[in-house]
Amino acid sequence: MIKLVFATANANKVTEIDNLLPDTVQLSSLKELGHKKDIPETSDTIEGNAKQKADFITENYKVNCFSDDTGLEINALNGEPGVYSARYASEIKDDEANIKLVLKKLEDNPKRGAQFKTAIALNIDGEQHVFFGVVKGTIRKQRIGNNGFGYDPIFEPENCGKTFAQMSLEEKNKYSHRARAFNKMIRFLNARK
Ligand code: IMP
Repeated sequence: MIKLVFATANANKVTEIDNLLPDTVQLSSLKELGHKKDIPETSDTIEGNAKQKADFITENYKVNCFSDDTGLEINALNGEPGVYSARYASEIKDDEANIKLVLKKLEDNPKRGAQFKTAIALNIDGEQHVFFGVVKGTIRKQRIGNNGFGYDPIFEPENCGKTFAQMSLEEKNKYSHRARAFNKMIRFLNARK
């Protein structure tokens, strides 16, 4: 049995990944660890942030753990909002304001290519492993759909014909950046046991 802490304050993410993990992995949250404060996240790359968060927990609690970080990279905006996706429009995390800002910046630009990228840093038995998951797509001109969160209403994955916000969680997980990165980590853990 491998014990792993998921270094995130987001309870939904813990449930989501717990469902994907094999029985040989016992997952616990920061809450169970007794950690209540924010974890420093000051890197200018998603990979750097994922590593920083995982290292912070491993150093402070001496546990095996993993952490994820995600960014939306829009080609016509030179990769923005990227690592700043959560707080693109303001210091306060505001999904609606972020979407409005993206639509305003792109206006009628016909070049609407973008990608979501997730990095996961896994600290296990003194080693660090990083996994990436990417989904390419386009930014719609208007928001559509009510599911999901963040930029889901304006992001249409390649060859799907609908946005993430028009999909069930199960359907989104077939394509999503985060599911792809997590599945790579799960394959790694399964091969290791
Ligand atoms: P985090 O690193 O997973 O917290 O993601 C940072 C930000 O990227 C979030 O606050 C969202 O704005 C955006 N984001 C991450 N994952 C998704 C997704 O699956 N759909 C839409 N937006 C997302």
